[in-house]
Amino acid sequence: MLSEFDIIRDLFNQPGLGAVANEHVREGIGDDCALLSIPEGKELAMSMDTLVEKIHFPENAPADLLGWRALAVNLSDLAAMGAVPLGFTMSLAMLGADKKWLENFAAGLKSCAQTYDCPLLGGDTTRGPLAITVQAHGLVESGKALLRSNAQVGDRIYVSGSLGNAALAARHLADLDKWKSESIFESSFYKPVPRLGLGSGAIDIANAAIDISDGLLADLGHICRASGIGAEIQLEKIPLGKSLDVGLDRSQALAIAVTGGDDYELVLTVPEGKAASLESMAKDINIPLVCIGEITRGKGVSCYDANGAALTFQTAGYQHFDA
Ligand code: ADP
Ligand code: MG
Repeated sequence: MLSEFDIIRDLFNQPGLGAVANEHVREGIGDDCALLSIPEGKELAMSMDTLVEKIHFPENAPADLLGWRALAVNLSDLAAMGAVPLGFTMSLAMLGADKKWLENFAAGLKSCAQTYDCPLLGGDTTRGPLAITVQAHGLVESGKALLRSNAQVGDRIYVSGSLGNAALAARHLADLDKWKSESIFESSFYKPVPRLGLGSGAIDIANAAIDISDGLLADLGHICRASGIGAEIQLEKIPLGKSLDVGLDRSQALAIAVTGGDDYELVLTVPEGKAASLESMAKDINIPLVCIGEITRGKGVSCYDANGAALTFQTAGYQHFDA
């Protein structure tokens, strides 16, 4: 059985995950607080997300994948602001200290931390139903962060990658064993790729950005509300996830793609004159990006099919507490 201190020292403060000191991190894990220095001209971007067993992931979810996901979803928020990761803190509640589970969890966390150069700086470890809270910290040039509230009428709306794989996978998580051979399912839900290069590359190009955690229509709706504008989406332009090819008709696939969450792609709104630079920047870093519509004077998100007919969808996206 591992003690709380063994867990922190051997697993969380292991090389490559914690145990760092760099130009920004003066103290990491070990003291009462971590100490960060913020360079002049930069702002600290912070974001927090909690994953609770049986709410955000099923019982017996693979620990290594949970580790990846817990950090990656927070890094996606940094990406959506155009921020560059600095480090993260983590609160872990669990019923028992299962050594194998913790080793796997730490390994998944470490692989994400190393991939995106984002060390674990501190946290809290406590007994309770399994819940993982991560707070990611990042740096962004002062005054340049990509806000939800700055979309402008006439902006083109871009979306990265493809949509719907994660939402489809989420429906099958409970019987994931059945889908295990289909690694696209497991990885599209548990291993989201935060679009950090795209977000930071879009500084000085995009007017507004958000990451798709709750669903395209819901998250673009947040931009509309925050910016006091509307959005028109051309449904035939929506990049459909590969896994939606299997056994779904086009309208079902489209509904999952625009209302399903968990893809962690970015939505960016860009003035027409800067659309070409956004496209070439994304091409340089190999991130697929398509224009799906335009910001308008209206209110809310409107969807149109190839014939120009307006279409509506039952739910805009995921919400924890229905009104
Ligand atoms: P305190 O009682 O002062 O809060 P703790 O015993 O909770 O101290 O933590 C000791 C050190 O270990 C602190 O630096 C804290 O940030 C770190 N720590 C505790 N839990 C975690 C965790 N889950 N992940 C990373 N660091 C942790
Ligand atoms: Mg503590």
